[in-house]
Amino acid sequence: MALLPAALERLLHELTRLPGIGRRGAERIALHLLEAPPEQAGQLAEALAALRREVRPCGLCGNWAEGERCAICADPRRATGQLCVVERAVDIWAFEAAEAYQGRYHVLGGTLSPLAGVTADDLRITELEDRLGPEGISEVILATNASVDGDATAHYLSQRLSERGLRTTRIAQGVPLGGHLDYADPGTLRLALQGRRPLG
Ligand SMILES: [Zn+2]
Repeated sequence: MALLPAALERLLHELTRLPGIGRRGAERIALHLLEAPPEQAGQLAEALAALRREVRPCGLCGNWAEGERCAICADPRRATGQLCVVERAVDIWAFEAAEAYQGRYHVLGGTLSPLAGVTADDLRITELEDRLGPEGISEVILATNASVDGDATAHYLSQRLSERGLRTTRIAQGVPLGGHLDYADPGTLRLALQGRRPLG
């Protein structure tokens, strides 16, 4: 006979598939849910279901949104002629927390990565180019991570966009080398944005 009830083992299995949660962490969460008032587990289950039911990528920038457009794209005051290109939506949240930028964003969905087989066609680059004219974009700020792939992607985009006569800038490297934007503190992010320089 199995040591643990099947439903408990199933939850532990699902939890350990999540990033940053090992077996011990999963056991603590499961135990907490067993000991907490029963409605807490129900509320968690409903929140998970609502997440996938109601949240989808913004049709314009790729940020997570509740409708067709995210709150940033839906705000006409954010139409500043600038686009800040990031790898993932979590990077937008970091910039927004730093309150350093008034324009709109564009989520690439990753970086070019020859080793992992990620090519330009796998990223949301065509979608980026489709926005330039209609939104009157005059500057694209390349805010990919300060990693080898992030830098290579920024240079690729800079070249591709400069062929269209567009100004590209790269955020300064106040961000730790190899570091991820979403781990940078707001002050560092603000300085990195202010210290951006032309690229290409
Ligand atoms: Zn959006």
